[in-house]
Formats: sequence, C-alpha cells, structure tokens
Amino acid sequence: MRIATSLASSSVLAPGGVIGILGGGQLGRMLAKAAARLGFKTYIYAPEAVAPAGDVSAARYVAYYTDETSLAHFAERVDVITYEFENVPAETVEILAKLGATVRPGAKALEKAQDRLVEKQFLQEIGAGTAAFHGVDSITDLEAGLNRVGRPAILKTRRLGYDGKGQTRLTDKDTDLPGAYEKAIEFAWAEVGAAPSILEAFVPFEREISIIAARGANGDIAMYDPAENVHREGILKSSTLPAKISSETEKKAREITMALMNALEYVGAAGVEFFVLKGGDLVVNEFAPRVHNSGHWTQDACAVCQFEQHIRAVAGWPLGNPNRHSDVVMENLIGDEANAWLEILREKNAALHLYGKREARTGRKMGHVNRLK
Ligand code: AMP
Repeated sequence: MRIATSLASSSVLAPGGVIGILGGGQLGRMLAKAAARLGFKTYIYAPEAVAPAGDVSAARYVAYYTDETSLAHFAERVDVITYEFENVPAETVEILAKLGATVRPGAKALEKAQDRLVEKQFLQEIGAGTAAFHGVDSITDLEAGLNRVGRPAILKTRRLGYDGKGQTRLTDKDTDLPGAYEKAIEFAWAEVGAAPSILEAFVPFEREISIIAARGANGDIAMYDPAENVHREGILKSSTLPAKISSETEKKAREITMALMNALEYVGAAGVEFFVLKGGDLVVNEFAPRVHNSGHWTQDACAVCQFEQHIRAVAGWPLGNPNRHSDVVMENLIGDEANAWLEILREKNAALHLYGKREARTGRKMGHVNRLK
C-alpha cells in the first residue's frame, strides 16, 4: 500500500509511489528513468524551465529552492524527497524538515559535503587520510597556510565548487620579478573571489579512483568495484574498470567507504573519490552525497546500476547486487564530442546515453558512452 504523505523510517514505498527530486540535471534524469523502471513516478523540482530531468518525469516544478509555498506544494504531493546535487541550500532542507517531509539522504550528509573544510575534518574523524589543509578567510591566512602545507598547493572555495570550478593552483616557483610571491598570493585570493576557502597541499598522486556505494534504510551496504578516473581540465573524462590498483589498496578504499556511509547513517547512493599514491596509500579527495558521474559505468556493466540502487534505498527497498559482469570504460561526451553520436551508435558493445541538452557549450556534459570490453 502506498504511504500517503511521507515515508516513515521503517516503511517501504510501494510501486506507484512518487519520488520528488531536487535538481533537474542529467543525474536527476537518470534517477527518474531508474525510478520509472521500478514503477515509481518522479516529480522534478528545479529553478530552470528547461531541464534534462523534467523531460522524463511525470511533473516538474519550476521554482526556487527557497520558495516555501512551492516547496510545501511539492512536499505534499510526493512520498519521499531526494536530490541530485549536493548544494541544496540549508534553508531548503530546513523548510522541508519543518514540513515533515522525508528527505533522503539526510541533512547530515549535506552538511558534511557542502563545505570542503567541514568535509576534510569529518574525513579525518572517520580515520581517512586527506591532503594537508588550512582554512583560509584572508590573505594573511593564505600565507600562513602556504607555510603550513607547502607548495605546490590548491586553493578551493569552501562552498559551491564543482568540476574544478572555484579553485586555483599555487605553483612551487615564483618568477624573478620583484614581489612575485605576494602577487601570486593576491592573484589566487582574487581567483576564488576572496570567499572563505581551503588551501590543500597538492597530492602527487599516481592515479585517481572512486567507489560508488549505496546504503539502504536498514543499514545494508552495496558497494561497486573501484573505478579508475581520468580528469581533463578539472572535468571527469573517463572511468575504467577494473582500476589498476592492488587488492590491499582496494580493501582500504572499501573500508573507508563503509566507514563513511555508516558514520553519516546514509540512505542512498554516494561517490567517494580517492587519490592513490605511489606505494598504494590512499588520500580521500572528496565525497558526493548523490549518484556520481564516475558510477555511470554501472548502467551497462552491472545488473543493478547506481541510479536504481539510489531509488531502491530512498524507497526503503532492499538493495540490488552491485557485482560487475563486464570490464568497461565510461567516457564522458563533453561539449561538441556528443556530435559523434552516430559513429558511437555503430560501435559494437557501446551503449550511448544522451542527456537531451539543447546546446553543446564548451565544458558541458552532453552525454556518455559505456564501452563494454
Ligand atoms: P575537486 O573539484 O576537488 O574534485 O578537484 C578536481 C580534480 O582536481 C581532482 O579530481 C584532481 O584531479 C585535482 N585535484 C583536486 N585537489 C587536488 C589536490 N589536493 N592534489 C592534487 N590534485 C588535486
């Protein structure tokens, strides 16, 4: 039986139920498709009138995330609410909590993931290694931070950064010009808009990996194999399975992921990004409290993909089997790379996913292809 207004912690949403999704991008679109396959309806809530997720959902709300009236209307009509991006304003979460709506994953995950400084402190609390870091609120802090973490280093805004945006690098060499060091610091501070930031030591990693995991409402965890990721200009370009890492490194990555999901009492799918050092030690870069781009390979190389796991978790359903049946390379189609759709369709063992975005702007994720090996 469908639960009328909201999903109590122990209950199960029956097929036919309505899942509300905050955010209208491609992740919302793929969540909506997975939900439809399981017999659910999705309502999308996003401020943009044109949204990849809206095209495949039963209803869309075009309203600001802090519009109380629209949120109340939305919350009344859905059984459970989830989100496809981690920068859901804290105010939205508060409004929804006041309305008594069930939001999964919960506020704790958002609170830890939205601020890079809070996130790093949390990671250290659960015993995960991180890059050396220093909170920066002024140029003086930045100088102190550089003395502490050394150079090269990366200055990142604490909030609202994604795909390498809101960050700038400080190299380990200055030019011979007088005042070069001071100028580099001033430039970096201006680059992040003089916003509260975090300075991180540059990690000389050998490779980057990520793990996607889902945790059910009953605490069960389903974890996918680690993917090896390559970034281009701060944007994920490809994820390759299997990752070239030792079984000990994989074991450590899985343990950290498990600790993180449990510490957050997480419900839903999440992605954890790691730097692998020479020798196999791990440093956590960040985690995303949502389905993750580096988990798109699961759509074609596993019986149950990350999007379905997320929907199962938020609906209180048992999780599916995360085992991988094929080796696979996921490649993002960025900007006009998606124009090659016809050639990709002709490839054997390639599964094409397009997001229905009308304009192929530079750096915009237009789709991806999973090539089974
Ligand atoms: P982020 O937005 O923090 O995920 O960073 C995007 C990409 O920049 C990462 O996937 C890395 O390739 C690189 N990066 C970020 N932080 C560091 C770091 N502390 N050391 C080395 N590379 C980094």
